Amino acid sequence: MTTRPRTSLKTQHFTESVIREMTRLAMQHGAVNLSQGFPDFAAPEWIKEAACDAIRGDVNQYAVTWGAKPLRDAIAADLQARHGLTIDPDRQVTVCCGATEAMIATLMAIVDPGDEVVVFEPFYENYGPDAILSGATPRFVRLRPPAVSDAGGDWSFDPNELAAAFCNRTRAIIINTPNNPTGKVFTRDELAAIARLCHHWGAIAITDEIYEHILFEDATHVPMATLDGMADRTVTINSTSKTFSVTGWRIGWAVAPADIAPAVRKVHDFLTVGAAAPLQAAAAQALRTGAPYYPDLRSQYQARRDRLIALLERAGFRCFLPRGAYYVMTDVSPFGFPDDVAFVRHLVTEIGVAAVPGSSFFRDSAAARQLVRFCFCKKDETLAEAGRRLARMAELVR
Ligand code: PLP
Repeated sequence: MTTRPRTSLKTQHFTESVIREMTRLAMQHGAVNLSQGFPDFAAPEWIKEAACDAIRGDVNQYAVTWGAKPLRDAIAADLQARHGLTIDPDRQVTVCCGATEAMIATLMAIVDPGDEVVVFEPFYENYGPDAILSGATPRFVRLRPPAVSDAGGDWSFDPNELAAAFCNRTRAIIINTPNNPTGKVFTRDELAAIARLCHHWGAIAITDEIYEHILFEDATHVPMATLDGMADRTVTINSTSKTFSVTGWRIGWAVAPADIAPAVRKVHDFLTVGAAAPLQAAAAQALRTGAPYYPDLRSQYQARRDRLIALLERAGFRCFLPRGAYYVMTDVSPFGFPDDVAFVRHLVTEIGVAAVPGSSFFRDSAAARQLVRFCFCKKDETLAEAGRRLARMAELVR
């Protein structure tokens, strides 16, 4: 008799990404895919040209493992110009394969088994497995939605609940602002409350800021590292994926204090060696010349957000207005389905629109029985087609 090899206990503790499963179902049913957050429109010509130039110019071998010098310099210069942060590109910046790798490399660099990491819930679905892979115990703090009718409100946390989540085992807190899936943009006061707890407990703030250029109305992005005393206890993660509509390039980075960055670099080196060299060259150019492009990006996304919300509301959805990022969280209780998964299955198979069940973003699925997330990083015609299909849902509203 032979014994079958088994997979690690770590991998048995998390399931396959629901979002990627939705993308597969969408393809199978010919559905309009408003689930996974990648644009279906072209990346800007100038950034594609920069990548082609780099390949033709023979930037085709391994870059320095922690990132090609021109990109690290461009990241530091961008943070200085836009946020007044002084960063040493030779010591503090690690270029990774997307924000995804930057996050897991950071967690593996700072967490030991038994350490705790505070995570706001709902959370971007990778943070759960990231915590398990790095050996951290996640401590969740709930973000609560504003009333659906409250156009001026935003998702918020209870400061006492947050304080109660910290203890002497807390190594870090993960903050994602602008936030996926809620569209929340953390205010300076909220970040200051988090910063006080980080100081008190000796914790690191890991901030995922990949939607920093996608903001609506008067929302402003406040980088945690700009708060008093936080530059030397914040790891700032960012990426070209969302800003330049190149999610397939896999170019991201972690900017860490000089005494933490070497550990991040070590993990990164052995995880992936480095991100694609020619795309690093193109990313450097994008950051150096991107300033005039950001306002357009913002206004185009605001128009897409408004278009999708109008279509969803016409079909009977209740929408929580996002302040940033490119997702709308909706309340689907008017349709009378038993839960979010049943709702989303109906939507993809019968209506032909794919979305993500809200429970993908919560540890406890009961908290999200009537929540469903749509993304709006799509062409006008894609959103219009989704709207035509979604209109059939209006018949089900009770
Ligand atoms: N962080 C957040 C909050 C995201 O929403 C996503 C993608 O949807 C990522 C990270 C992944 O970023 P990247 O493509 O740079 O790995």
